[in-house]
Amino acid sequence: MIHAMPSAEEMARRADQASALAESLLVQGVRAVALSQVDNAGVTRVKTVPVSRLERAVKYGVGMSPVFEVFLVNDSITSSDEVGGPVGDLRLMPDPSALRVLAAQPGWAWAPVDKHTQEGEAYAGCQRSFARRMARRATDAGIDVRMTFELEWFQAALGSEVDNPIHTGPGYGLPVLATISDYARDLIAALEEEGVGVEQFHPEYAMGQLEVSVAPSDPVGAADTTVLVRQTIRAMAATHGMRASFSPIVVAGHVGNGGHVHFSLWRDGKNLFDGGRGPYGMTAEGEAFVAGVLAELPALVAVGSPSVPSYLRLIPSHWAGAFACWGRENREAAVRFVTGMLGTRDTAANTEVKCFDQSANPYLVAGALIAAGLAGVEKDLRLPDEVTVDPGGLSADELAHQGIQRLPQSVEEALSNLEKSDVLRDAMGPMLFGPFAAVRRGEAEAFAGKGPEEIVAAHRWRY
Ligand code: GLU
Ligand code: MG
Repeated sequence: MIHAMPSAEEMARRADQASALAESLLVQGVRAVALSQVDNAGVTRVKTVPVSRLERAVKYGVGMSPVFEVFLVNDSITSSDEVGGPVGDLRLMPDPSALRVLAAQPGWAWAPVDKHTQEGEAYAGCQRSFARRMARRATDAGIDVRMTFELEWFQAALGSEVDNPIHTGPGYGLPVLATISDYARDLIAALEEEGVGVEQFHPEYAMGQLEVSVAPSDPVGAADTTVLVRQTIRAMAATHGMRASFSPIVVAGHVGNGGHVHFSLWRDGKNLFDGGRGPYGMTAEGEAFVAGVLAELPALVAVGSPSVPSYLRLIPSHWAGAFACWGRENREAAVRFVTGMLGTRDTAANTEVKCFDQSANPYLVAGALIAAGLAGVEKDLRLPDEVTVDPGGLSADELAHQGIQRLPQSVEEALSNLEKSDVLRDAMGPMLFGPFAAVRRGEAEAFAGKGPEEIVAAHRWRY
């Protein structure tokens, strides 16, 4: 059995932090704390406590049924060999060092949780602990992974579905900014207040679509941040009489919302994507890591593009990265290598995985990407030739000739790849893999035979 961290010392440190924190929160006018986890369906679930109960929650957790490991996106419940049924309890242990005061929800703070058993052990099905375990695996190999999730979302007036979007273009249009000025300013200010390093904000290509990118951090921190940013966007939207959707596809047939992941790798403070002899200055280790990700990509999409609507988004020539290939600044390659501007490459060079979306659990994405990359490093893999065109424009023969594979086109296809991936199965362990696969299967069955409109509508306000 895999014992995920945090360690006993870490838990003791957290408890010490909690009482001081509770006092300072009250002074700041915070009354309640939202404790969130992202489940295997990619839905963020919450329990809340008043600030007066925070210390107790940090020490002993708050209860939640293990059956949430097999909740589907529509709140129906499946089961796996490992989990199911009404009996049992898990303790949700808030991480006080990740707690933030919510700038768009006055009087509220938020903290992510790790899941423990009632005996105080880390729960082997805990998604956040999985990300931490994989990040440690990387640091044990001397590699620091820095990561960030890019967020695209759709926003429309409260009470409306897709009519009354926040804008109708032009994509990236300055005119749009004039009409969303107050909202955009309030959102950027709130995120900055929360300590999220906002890098950019813009009106995106699709109707009603916006995007924010935020500064990278360690993998668990990056997943925490994306949960926080999404909640802040939702709350700020509500304040302005709107609501936000992070679903992969919000309007059937339109361009979707990506959840692109950027990562860079560092050894002894040096970027492994610069100054080496591999493609565009990658070091051998950096190249091997990316090659590991590319090799596992047909299985990784089951984690990173996990939902039924994910496959309505993951189509060629929509900048979603529907082909398992890589290219420098190729926005149709699932793996886009970014060198950055000359003069900044030692800090800027990074790899973007474009095929993922935000129906994914970001902790599972972080952990699975690292597991795949490290497997590439272990095997000292090399990258295949770069792809410099839109693979969607190539014939089947040309694709086969260049060894370019279309990524899976359904949950079932992705799941069957995941089931065959020893790298990802071993990394996740049975207590995480079993329930996760059951959820994927359950959702595929729940929406089997349903048309795009119905699928899209059923997912629109779930993520
Ligand atoms: N909206 C596109 C997607 O579905 C991405 C557009 C972009 O590259 O920013 O991933
Ligand atoms: Mg974008």
